Amino acid sequence: MDTPEQRIKIAVQKTGRLTDHSIDLLERCGLKLTQSKDQLFLYGENMPIDLLLVRDDDIPGLVSDDVCDLGIVGLNVVEEVRQKLLADGRKPRFKQVFELDFGHCRLAIAGPEDTDYRGVDSLKDTKIATSYVSILRNYLKEIGIEAEPVYFSGAVEIAPKLGKADFICDLVSTGTTLAANGLVELETLIDSEAVVIQTQEALTDEKQALVDRMLQRLDGVLQVRESKYIMLHAPRESLAEIRALLPGSEAPTVMPLDGTDDKVAVHAVCRENVFWETLENLKQAGASSLLVLPVEKMLA
Ligand code: ATP
Ligand code: ZN
Repeated sequence: MDTPEQRIKIAVQKTGRLTDHSIDLLERCGLKLTQSKDQLFLYGENMPIDLLLVRDDDIPGLVSDDVCDLGIVGLNVVEEVRQKLLADGRKPRFKQVFELDFGHCRLAIAGPEDTDYRGVDSLKDTKIATSYVSILRNYLKEIGIEAEPVYFSGAVEIAPKLGKADFICDLVSTGTTLAANGLVELETLIDSEAVVIQTQEALTDEKQALVDRMLQRLDGVLQVRESKYIMLHAPRESLAEIRALLPGSEAPTVMPLDGTDDKVAVHAVCRENVFWETLENLKQAGASSLLVLPVEKMLA
């Protein structure tokens, strides 16, 4: 599997909020990358997988046109492109195959702090500045409000100050940019995070098998992020109480301890972080020799 067309191409944001996380996740899945001289391309040394570094807005198109097999991009961008294609009577040729749990933000309507906002009716006959015209248009249609989306390619938050719009519809995560511009968040249109999209064109069996393997590894990487392996000794009679205290663990392994009948060793994978308070509560319940280890890899 090594001619260019047999290699999997993944479109990733070149520089921006998603770049480091996207590359880091793929590296944690075992992919070793060499940077090409033009820095538009990262070559996979140990697997037939290459990354194409592009603007995030171009990612759904590249996957749709089969230039790339997969892409990592915000759901906000995927939805805008999808809804625009549908509005133009065209079919999106990509599908979402995985949620990556980073790049969380929401597409929201915001307005000046001093607006007398009384719910969506206050949007009637106003101008709303946004880079997400298709999503906004469909949202307005859904709630039955007539308002005019005004396209801004960036710096949307200054539109009200410039007198170009009454409200804005833009991405928000912490809300500090809004606050800095004297704006307050009013309505949420979509909750977004980074996702993996795949072309709807069928891949060769070999390529699809590798995509499935990478998605399974991604799942493992995401699962272990917060997971811990916990080991402790417990009096047999407190076993039920101790098990109940283990955060997010399913079936712990219980083993006899050499030379004693009334104590056992308990090993468990906890799907949540284990805090000092939990360890103190476990100790209070009779546990001893407590050990918490990070989990590096997991394969269900
Ligand atoms: P490009 O040059 O690739 O077009 P960009 O300026 O459009 O970059 P970034 O600002 O890097 O994009 O954001 C990329 C993605 O990060 C967004 O599409 C969104 O999914 C996610 N994101 C998370 N939090 C925020 C936020 N507070 N503001 C904007 N985007 C955010
Ligand atoms: Zn962009």
